Amino acid sequence: MLVKTRSDEYSFTGLQLLNRRLPEMHEMKELIHTKMHMAKAGIYGEVRVDEVFQKYSFPFQYVVLHDVSLESFGKFQMDTVFLTQYFAVILESKNKGGKLRFKQNPSQLERENEDGKVDIFESPEVQIERNIYLFDEWLRLYGVKIPIYGVIVLTNSKVMIMEPSTKYTCILHQTIPVFLRNIVRDKVCLDVNEMHKLAERIVSSHQSNFPYPMCERWGINPNDLLTGVYCEKCKVHGMVKKKNGWNCLRCGHVDRLAHEKAIYEWFVLVGKSINNRQCKRFLHLNSPQSALRVLKSMNLITSGNSKNTIYKWDWKEIASRKT
Ligand SMILES: [Zn+2]
Repeated sequence: MLVKTRSDEYSFTGLQLLNRRLPEMHEMKELIHTKMHMAKAGIYGEVRVDEVFQKYSFPFQYVVLHDVSLESFGKFQMDTVFLTQYFAVILESKNKGGKLRFKQNPSQLERENEDGKVDIFESPEVQIERNIYLFDEWLRLYGVKIPIYGVIVLTNSKVMIMEPSTKYTCILHQTIPVFLRNIVRDKVCLDVNEMHKLAERIVSSHQSNFPYPMCERWGINPNDLLTGVYCEKCKVHGMVKKKNGWNCLRCGHVDRLAHEKAIYEWFVLVGKSINNRQCKRFLHLNSPQSALRVLKSMNLITSGNSKNTIYKWDWKEIASRKT
């Protein structure tokens, strides 16, 4: 039974939009580009784990919670929690391909790719250890005592373990059901009702890691971003507003609603509000009147009068929007 799905696609969407508006020579370009690919790989990995839980069910009462962020003595984020009456399991998924080595003292994950290049990452062992400790503390605050196990789930089929983890079991995502079924269920810690109540409490305590606006999150000066309305066809900024809509002078593409996407990008990347001057500059409009028309057409929340009007987006709406 699945009670909480994932909401962590914001990071990827935000990084994708940020990458698109960062000039090639910008000092953060390479980092943002890398982070974008990592976020994408992470989502692929998570989808594989999600599919396993959609396909299989278990012959006992359980709850699956994806992407849970809680706080006890510190904030912590768990990819997937499998909760039963007997135990809880934290599944930490890794979508890394290549040769993996779990190094000790200090704990690090070493990945060697096909070309022999070696990268070092934070070890999932450390993440799981920390999560088990903090989740246990969180549960104790609510008077719940239940064994918590951790498992590393590898979601990339092109992975080879050269040095295994000495602390936690490492499994392929296809074997999640077998692994979970084989955990001994001898002592009931929660009755079914308590288990579901606990799941509800976890969901209501979840703190969404909403990463917008991206410039603030990554310490990027919004003035560094490329401005102009983006052409989805030829991937260049600078569409021009004409009577029939937004026109790309490069490829001829016409998009009547391209300004809406640009305003959405503003809120994702730059700020929680926009004014006429900012809109005019960001969309390359030639007059305050055109900017006013654009802003008024978008059903934004307004405050202030005439020239000082600022426009805000309903953040719930932006959070539910994908791109
Ligand atoms: Zn174009």
